[in-house]
Amino acid sequence: MNVPLRQARETPRSGAERAERVVVLSGAGISTESGIPDFRGPQGVWTKDPQAEKLSNIHYYVADPEIRRKSWQSRLVHPAWTAQPNAGHMAIVELERRGKLHALITQNIDGLHQKAGNSPDRVIEVHGTVHKVVCLSCGWKGPMQETLARVRAGETDPECKACGGMLKSDTISFGQALIPEVIDRAMEAAAEADLFLSVGTSLKVYPIAGVVQVAKRGGARVVIVNAEPTPFDGIADAVIREPIGEVLPRIVGVAVGAVN
Ligand code: NAD
Repeated sequence: MNVPLRQARETPRSGAERAERVVVLSGAGISTESGIPDFRGPQGVWTKDPQAEKLSNIHYYVADPEIRRKSWQSRLVHPAWTAQPNAGHMAIVELERRGKLHALITQNIDGLHQKAGNSPDRVIEVHGTVHKVVCLSCGWKGPMQETLARVRAGETDPECKACGGMLKSDTISFGQALIPEVIDRAMEAAAEADLFLSVGTSLKVYPIAGVVQVAKRGGARVVIVNAEPTPFDGIADAVIREPIGEVLPRIVGVAVGAVN
């Protein structure tokens, strides 16, 4: 189902009514146009190199010093340090500027929504952030760039300065527990939405993919913007398979009444 924008605007519960409480769920696909590859898309990191999945798995990370060394080397050159927000990110900033953004739930760890101008208190980072490090033993957290300076200076697997424990980016790897309060906040926000936009996510990672159903049950119109089919396309009011940077500014314009 690929529904044109005009039809999407006229789906149930809309009529002439504009959205007032928009909740956005973003995934890696919103940042590909900023030069950060996704995992599962055609040009995805895992699609091209299935071995790369090990770098995102906590069990390999904890057990294997070589995986940690590789992880630190790949963090040194992570595209998030230089990437700039694109038109998709800016469209969500516009939603907030117009007072329509209820919450921005992101699976991304790149910080581009905040860099674009969304307020940090509106952004719910369900999978953490690559801009911080965390000690897996004592929970100490600090800025990523300080630890990367130690890696550049020759420490291949830097230890926590507070307790000597293992350091890692403050992201939720596969096999790691999510933070229940953060997931609860995302679910509550989704239930309160009148328009729910799922943008650039394959919706294959649970439990967060479940927010789509939560939003739908709460009465929101659901619009899915993703290049490839997702498991939730069948319950969406509109599915749009166009590049996010092109289509999201138009959807936002319609949703807030700036475009007819
Ligand atoms: P995913 O890789 O599973 O899916 C991304 C989807 O976006 C794909 O279906 C792809 O077809 C689509 N897509 C890519 N570029 C697009 C574009 N320009 N226009 C329209 N659609 C586009 O991503 P996910 O569902 O977010 O899950 C991956 C997990 O990996 C996340 O949990 C996240 O934590 C992490 N991750 C984050 C980043 C980041 O922070 N930028 C990057 C890679 C992975």
